[in-house]
Amino acid sequence: MEALETAARRCALQVAALAVQDRLNADGSDWQGPRLPCTCGQPARYAGRRAKTFLTALGPVELHRAYYHCGACQAGFFPRDRSLGLEGTSLSPATTRMAGTAAACASFAEASELLDDLAGLRVSPKHVERVAEALGREIDAAERSGTVFASVPPSAPTMYLGIDGTGVPVRKSETAGRPGKQPDGSAKTREAKLITAWTAEARHPQTGRPMRDPGSVSYCAAIESAASRDTDRHPSAFAQRVRREAERRGFPQAGRRVVLGDGALWIWSLCQEQFPGAVQIVDLFHAKEHLWTVSRQLHAGHDALIKAWADERCDELEGGRFEALLAALRSASACEEASKCVEYMQRNRDRMRYAEFRAAGLCVGSGVVESGCKSIVGSRLKQSGMKWTVNGANAILSLRCCIKSRRYEDFWESRSAAN
Ligand SMILES: [Zn+2]
Repeated sequence: MEALETAARRCALQVAALAVQDRLNADGSDWQGPRLPCTCGQPARYAGRRAKTFLTALGPVELHRAYYHCGACQAGFFPRDRSLGLEGTSLSPATTRMAGTAAACASFAEASELLDDLAGLRVSPKHVERVAEALGREIDAAERSGTVFASVPPSAPTMYLGIDGTGVPVRKSETAGRPGKQPDGSAKTREAKLITAWTAEARHPQTGRPMRDPGSVSYCAAIESAASRDTDRHPSAFAQRVRREAERRGFPQAGRRVVLGDGALWIWSLCQEQFPGAVQIVDLFHAKEHLWTVSRQLHAGHDALIKAWADERCDELEGGRFEALLAALRSASACEEASKCVEYMQRNRDRMRYAEFRAAGLCVGSGVVESGCKSIVGSRLKQSGMKWTVNGANAILSLRCCIKSRRYEDFWESRSAAN
């Protein structure tokens, strides 16, 4: 059966490719007279038909297109390529879309294999990379312009935004002069910052706690600066990105607005500046991680003690027994992590009123933010041996976030409408 279906499919595609090829080549309407205006303002002259092979979803198709050449600026163009969205590429729009889908999910080499295995399309890994990055840059531009991805009213009375960061391995040239965690003080990674937006109206059947609504999560991420000084006239690049994602989801209009993050200061100053009045919560997952780090240093080598001490502190944290928690941390002040943790807890105290937040029916961090970093950034950009340029990483992040936020369809609709 497999041999039969595979052979029949190949045959059907070949017939279809030939039909498309013949139909387009029989249509001479792309000849629009002996002269057409060039972009430089001078007239370009018709210079015959030229053939080029495009890889379509049906396989290779050879098109003969009218060619216009401008003597003044030496540029040439094909009106048909423009109208079909084929300018400057050898991949048809459908093939380009597939390459983007594959490259968003897997490495360029794997994506190239997937295209061959699933669609019978031969596109080299390098070509997949070029096409996917160009697509990612287009999506980023569309995302910035605000014209493609429409803003919607808040989909629930309470809207959540999570902000987090994770290191992406980059080429040496991308970290020159930047301090890092390597023994010699250099850096091997750059921080990709991620915004996650979601709703959590659903309730856990046993505990009654808020659960993330299926299909409500959207993402936007980039390696870019979140630093802003009082003297800056515009918010940082990342603050603007947070703003755009929030507006697309109707966050500013929501009845209750909640921002979750780890304890990092930049997150809270950004939040204060962009969304004054939003409830600020330190993601419980992150807060607990800090207590575990202390316990591991304090009771190094004694697994049972590590767990017992950490569990007790986590209970105090979740139960709102803050003074007991601080006292326990202070009594361990010989431990460096413990004194750091006291500072962290005090600084974020108001953002850790978990019992209070829970009583108000708020989500205090179910790992949505943490898992976003892993599933959006980590699983695609942190595979072994990967070394990114910042531009390359940002293009793939745009592409991946677009697909994972279910916006790829909208992007393609507006892209084909523009041609
Ligand atoms: Zn010209």
